[in-house]
Amino acid sequence: MAEMQMTIQDRLTHVKAEIEKACQESGRPGDSVELVAVSKTFDGEAIAPVIDAGQRVFGENRVQEAQRKWPDLRARADNIEVRLIGPLQSNKAGDAVALFDVIETVDREKIARALASEMAKQGRQPALYVQVNTGSEPQKAGVPPEKVVEFVKRCRDVFGLEIDGLMCIPPVDDNPGPHFALLGELASRAGVEKLSMGMSSDYKTAIAFGATSVRVGSAIFGDRTVPNP
Ligand SMILES: *Cc1c(COP(=O)(O)O)cnc(C)c1O
Repeated sequence: MAEMQMTIQDRLTHVKAEIEKACQESGRPGDSVELVAVSKTFDGEAIAPVIDAGQRVFGENRVQEAQRKWPDLRARADNIEVRLIGPLQSNKAGDAVALFDVIETVDREKIARALASEMAKQGRQPALYVQVNTGSEPQKAGVPPEKVVEFVKRCRDVFGLEIDGLMCIPPVDDNPGPHFALLGELASRAGVEKLSMGMSSDYKTAIAFGATSVRVGSAIFGDRTVPNP
């Protein structure tokens, strides 16, 4: 079927089938990978049919954009989960704790401290992941690989934060496999279970390397017309 003729629901069904197939090929249970539908830049009209088709977990990369969109959208169904997958400024930590169910981009002590303080104040406990800059790219967010074990330990010991997982975005021009393998190795050394890795172009590879969630945007929603912020 040509991309243009496919509806958003068709693409969602296709991605879910591909995830199950990739699980089978890796000898993993079909439900061992969570699909995070990345809805950044898309408005409520595009997202609503995806909720109505049964998708419950979504990813957003900007606090303010998510604040605008999700209060209304959450009312469409029970059990909607919204994850922050973009950079977090410490002055937005309060908004992020209030809004998100999972924050995947903890990457420095200042953020860890701000989140710990807001979580205590609000009595809310979003799940937290540490973002890892697996390619050590200077312009990219994330903890450098050699600092990950220590950073996770400090989040726990100094700030009393539970860290559930690691997240990475491999360099665009690299073969992603080695980055996914590195993330898996760091997770076992740091004692965390969850691995958020894989996007539209490489989620099947990520599943082969043990991803527990994949973040898929354009393969479900279509190309983003707004440039990637
Ligand atoms: C935009 C984005 C995605 C989804 O990218 P696609 O290529 O559209 O699937 C995944 N993860 C992060 C962190 C993103 O910013």
